[in-house]
Amino acid sequence: STDVLGRTEGGDLRLAGLTKRFGAFTAVDNLDLTIPQGSFFALLGASGCGKTTTLRMVSGLEDPTAGQIFLGDKDVTDTKPYRRPVNTVFQNYALFPHLDIFENVAFGLRRRGFKSVKPQVEAMLELVELGHLAKRKPSQLSGGQQQRIALARALINEPQVLLLDEPLGALDLKLRRQMQIELKRIQTEVGLTFVHVTHDQEEAMTMADTIAVMNQGRIEQMGSPAELYENPLTTFVANFLGQSNLIPGTVESATGDVVTVSAQGRRLTLDAKRCRSLSGAVILGVRPEKVQLVATEAEVPSGYNALSGTVSDASFIGVSTQYLVKLPSGEEISVFEQNTGRAIQRPGTEVVVHWDPSQGFGLDGTQDIDAG
Ligand code: ATP
Repeated sequence: STDVLGRTEGGDLRLAGLTKRFGAFTAVDNLDLTIPQGSFFALLGASGCGKTTTLRMVSGLEDPTAGQIFLGDKDVTDTKPYRRPVNTVFQNYALFPHLDIFENVAFGLRRRGFKSVKPQVEAMLELVELGHLAKRKPSQLSGGQQQRIALARALINEPQVLLLDEPLGALDLKLRRQMQIELKRIQTEVGLTFVHVTHDQEEAMTMADTIAVMNQGRIEQMGSPAELYENPLTTFVANFLGQSNLIPGTVESATGDVVTVSAQGRRLTLDAKRCRSLSGAVILGVRPEKVQLVATEAEVPSGYNALSGTVSDASFIGVSTQYLVKLPSGEEISVFEQNTGRAIQRPGTEVVVHWDPSQGFGLDGTQDIDAG
């Protein structure tokens, strides 16, 4: 059943074979995606991968070339934008400059003919913690405050799905971090489905419960931030979410739980269940914070993977020291060492990097190692 706005009584947002072509160029390529009701979902990808086009199809601003959009069991593919229970918050807040904050938030209700708007507007202003600014004009607010008003203005319409298109892109880093936490709090409070588009992996990981990594109009991988980070399935995802050391090699043997790889003139091992390639070419991955650095092979715990090299860079960044260690092959291994007050290893120092084999992951070795 639906109400006057055409809202269904909730349900998942589902994209089925959703495709958008501009001439010969495919911007969104046959997306199949279910976004559970009430989730905070991030579409993450580099500029031009098709994120905004996907959002615009969901909101109705763009007609799909093919495919369908469902809200619950209702097909909204051909529903007019203003009849969809969907609102969008953009990066340029687009507040009405001549209206005060109260009237900006009240706008959607007034347009729908509501006479009494005060209780709802006040509740929304309270939700975004800006009740004390109700009488100001948008120009008298900071960027972060304006963004919160834009959010209140969208939420007052009680959409079933809120789309956020790089909403924090115009804010400076510190404010962006604050707003990320704030947005997450508000989403939890209102319980609506939020679909957030961003190219910032840290932002997606901070806020979303599920991330879909998009690449060239397709979903490369989808999962929780931890799943994507710990178990990337492609070099693109491994490189796009945080840093990865990716070491090309060849599978020597895959027996039981252990895969043995020959790489960099050494034998390295990893868990079979975390390895996507059990024969032939493989790319062994390990995150920089999972790698330790010691002076000699004798200090490497038994059973650990080890590679020797020379420190080529050491950067103290407060919480950690980040090293680059050059291997004899010329490839570099990145190491993040928690800052515990230990002396920094200077460039030129010979070291051994090592890691617990269970911390590594293995990818199909035929991929572009630099993707992402
Ligand atoms: P960004 O983060 O830069 O906004 P995006 O991932 O949101 O990137 P889209 O805006 O969805 O990317 O664009 C995807 C691709 O489709 C881009 O290559 C873009 O140039 C192209 N594109 C978007 N709109 C049109 C259009 N109206 N006509 C032709 N090409 C378009």
